[in-house]
Amino acid sequence: MNKFARNPAIVQIFDTTNRDGEQATTGARYGARSKLTISRALARAGVDRIEAGFPVSSQADFHAVQLIAREVRGPMIFGLTKTNPDEIKRTYEAVQDAEYPGIHVFSVMFDPHSLEAYGTTMERVVEESVKGVAYARELLGSRGQIEFSFQNATNSPLDWIVNGYLKMIEAGADVINVPDTVGYTHPDEITTIFAELRRAIPQYVLLSAHCHDDLGNATANSIAAVRAGADIVECTINGIGERAGNAALEEIVMNIIVRKGLLNGRTVRFDTTSLNELSRLVRDHYGMEVQQNKAIVGANAFRHRSGVHQDGMVKGRVYEIMQPAQVGWTGEGFDLTARSGYAGVAQRSGRLGYDTSGLRGLKAQIMLPFKQIADEKGSVGDTDLVWLMDSVFQNGRQRYSLEDMSIRKAEGSDNYHVSVKLVDGSQAPSGSITVSGAVAGKSGNGANGSEEHHGAVEALYSTIDKMVGKGDGWHLISYSPVNIGTGSNATAEVTVILSRDADANPKIIKPFENGARAMYVGRARHEDTLRASAMAYLDAINKMSPQN
Ligand code: MN
Repeated sequence: MNKFARNPAIVQIFDTTNRDGEQATTGARYGARSKLTISRALARAGVDRIEAGFPVSSQADFHAVQLIAREVRGPMIFGLTKTNPDEIKRTYEAVQDAEYPGIHVFSVMFDPHSLEAYGTTMERVVEESVKGVAYARELLGSRGQIEFSFQNATNSPLDWIVNGYLKMIEAGADVINVPDTVGYTHPDEITTIFAELRRAIPQYVLLSAHCHDDLGNATANSIAAVRAGADIVECTINGIGERAGNAALEEIVMNIIVRKGLLNGRTVRFDTTSLNELSRLVRDHYGMEVQQNKAIVGANAFRHRSGVHQDGMVKGRVYEIMQPAQVGWTGEGFDLTARSGYAGVAQRSGRLGYDTSGLRGLKAQIMLPFKQIADEKGSVGDTDLVWLMDSVFQNGRQRYSLEDMSIRKAEGSDNYHVSVKLVDGSQAPSGSITVSGAVAGKSGNGANGSEEHHGAVEALYSTIDKMVGKGDGWHLISYSPVNIGTGSNATAEVTVILSRDADANPKIIKPFENGARAMYVGRARHEDTLRASAMAYLDAINKMSPQN
């Protein structure tokens, strides 16, 4: 059976992260390469359909769609086009090399108010759309599918859209997509519209929903559409998209899986364990942060804060409607706070890879600084705990310390001049020697995602790298300065994470991997942020040096 044909047991996932999602961002960081990376990850996860872009919108998007069509195997690859024949032709050229090519034709806004604003009529739009769909069918032959959308269909008269869609089916459309373009429709209205369309259109035609989140209803509307007979849901990773965004893929997929009892056994062909990785990929490539309390993929999505909830979780995960591992979540279920006891701290440390069996004698040594961090910051995260445990266990040795430093930037120049004096404690027997280094570093532009790479800090770190002979020994995967205290008492605390793996995810703290050290956390405080930065970096480097 053709996997794209209508199958009452399957809800097909149509991802439009690289089209509707892309429209809402400043574009993918590495253009077509980013879109290709995301599309490949979606294909591996089992997505059914990918809208790769809007080929006539720009030369760059044409090439991105063409690249995805040529490289990505598995899903049907769609290009979006208006009803104009030249644009349909160009869109066909972009997708024609795909294993399964698709053309998505859409009309102007179809509601009466918009038609009047555009100076056109319902009849004219239907006529132009019929011609467009027929032409797309002619170009594509029987190789792939034609999808058709009346823009803003859910907010247009129901008899108009039913009659209009029937004409598109006659002209050759395989998929009828019904967009709530402005995010206005409510779930009960969606139910009425989809039930009526399902009744009116032939059995073999696929019905698709495309919902926006302007009133926060995108997921509820998509699920209502599925329950009323939709075969396909259009969505984006992290819900990125025009204005308040599209329906979020991860929410749709998990609703279908977690509430399968409401869907007569219908399911998706999607690997849910890839959801968190996809979320991170899209965040990194499109530079749009994910809100912490975002369903399924937010940093707090599986984190229980209240003592009552933590107790329930320890007793039997009673507050969890899905398993974190089911969605590829590898973070921790709850934060440690000043209310946490020694048992919780020992358990978490153990899970991070520290042997806590000999810990008892060190209890005071751990709990004293633990409570101090908890009081200052409200909670103790994995990064804090790794730093704390390494300090208590004296992992690494205090090889390098900062003797002095200065950073100058000449007016009108992009270059920093950095001088650093380090004490190298390994140089026995004299105890230590002082090494100096200086470098002129280019000013950074701070454009590297969520991490702040100040030009001065980059210059400082590359000076230290040269002095300690870094080579390709490690990668700086996180640099975070915070203020502790206020006013004249304020102190800068800088935390850095180093890893030998350039792709290590700083949001998932794994100090050990396969029994070997994988991440090193360095931390220091000083009233001068740059000095704290140098000290924190050296602290992490020291932790990498093998112990004597
Ligand atoms: Mn849209």
